[in-house]
Amino acid sequence: MAQALSSEQLVDIAGTYGTPVYVYHAEKIEEQYRKLTTAFSNTNTVFFYACKALTNINILKHIKELGANVDCSSINEVKLALHAGFPPNRILYTSNGIGFSEIEEAKNLGVYINIDSLSNLEKFGQKFGHSYPVGIRLRPNIMAGGNLKISTGHEKSKFGIPVDQIETILELVNKYNLRICDLHIHTGSEIKDVEVFVKGIEVLFNIIPHFKDLEFIDLGGGFKVPYKDGDVETDIPLLAQKVGEAFANHPNPGGKPLQVWFEPGKFMVSECGYFITQVNVMKETSAATFVSVDSGFNHLIRPMFYDAYHRIENISNPNGPKKTYSVVGNICETDTFAWHRELNEVREGDYLVFYNAGAYGFEMSSNFNSRYKPVEILVKDGTAHQIRKRDVFEDLLRNQIEVL
Ligand SMILES: *Cc1c(COP(=O)(O)O)cnc(C)c1O
Repeated sequence: MAQALSSEQLVDIAGTYGTPVYVYHAEKIEEQYRKLTTAFSNTNTVFFYACKALTNINILKHIKELGANVDCSSINEVKLALHAGFPPNRILYTSNGIGFSEIEEAKNLGVYINIDSLSNLEKFGQKFGHSYPVGIRLRPNIMAGGNLKISTGHEKSKFGIPVDQIETILELVNKYNLRICDLHIHTGSEIKDVEVFVKGIEVLFNIIPHFKDLEFIDLGGGFKVPYKDGDVETDIPLLAQKVGEAFANHPNPGGKPLQVWFEPGKFMVSECGYFITQVNVMKETSAATFVSVDSGFNHLIRPMFYDAYHRIENISNPNGPKKTYSVVGNICETDTFAWHRELNEVREGDYLVFYNAGAYGFEMSSNFNSRYKPVEILVKDGTAHQIRKRDVFEDLLRNQIEVL
């Protein structure tokens, strides 16, 4: 198992590169990927890293070297993946609500595409017919995931073509002789119950017999990782077993063995990430002792956006007495990271680290309040490499056109 980065290492990095800073641990990403490939080693399964979780080009290159494929949610992510060296046949573009021109662009780049609307499926048929294989993103009408904002497969979700519209899908497939190579579902994020994936397979097997060119079944991502003590990770070996059984019970009517795809994002990169901030001010009030750090939801939005829990530690005072604090940011907007949290005694100038910050951390950061985005560091083979420099003032004006 990859040893977690130590407090000393993190303090050292914060001192060298300043704060706020995101630190990623390459070996932890490898460990997560190996958990998947080991559990599924006896099956015909391929993993596409859902790169919207973290797209730093060095992370993409590292994951390419590990042997994973990549799943993209925009044409620019497809281009980043190509830039990182992924060949087109290891890139999947799972689209959602995009204009047809982006689908054409993806087709011209030669990557796999999952289409998520009848409208784009029809346009694809009109233009390309049987000439280019394509996947369909379905909405299985299953409720799953840690929070409604991250549930994507339920009956009110915008994602995918609802399975109950299968008749219309089949009309289009027949009309244009579409070569449907893949059926995709992604039910949400933070799914700890592996039965959700089994249910998804059941839904798919009802319709698989209609697709004679099918080669892949894509079950999406959404594996859960532990955020707080007592949390569990999705049981990957159990998932492998259940998926194996489900496919044994539903042989492909076409006779061809189907390859199973997954698209883990958070599972691959969440725990590799550490977000280090420094304490600006301590403020005693009747409601709480506030600890204001040099960051806010402009850098880590998950607590405010999803009520997400991130474990926090005072790495500058690991042996200090435990006290209760409310950890907040420094932007002009309520940006609570943690309310009434026990930490080792906090003093101005201390470094606080947020754990599990690799996924949807830097990636969802912004320049709100005209503050600079954090630096990013990759620790690989024990060495810290800076992989993003801090913004400078000119960056705030870049792309603005001064007409007055
Ligand atoms: C976001 C996303 C994923 C990854 O979800 P995680 O919860 O990070 O594993 C996978 N597939 C698709 C289509 C997505 O949009």
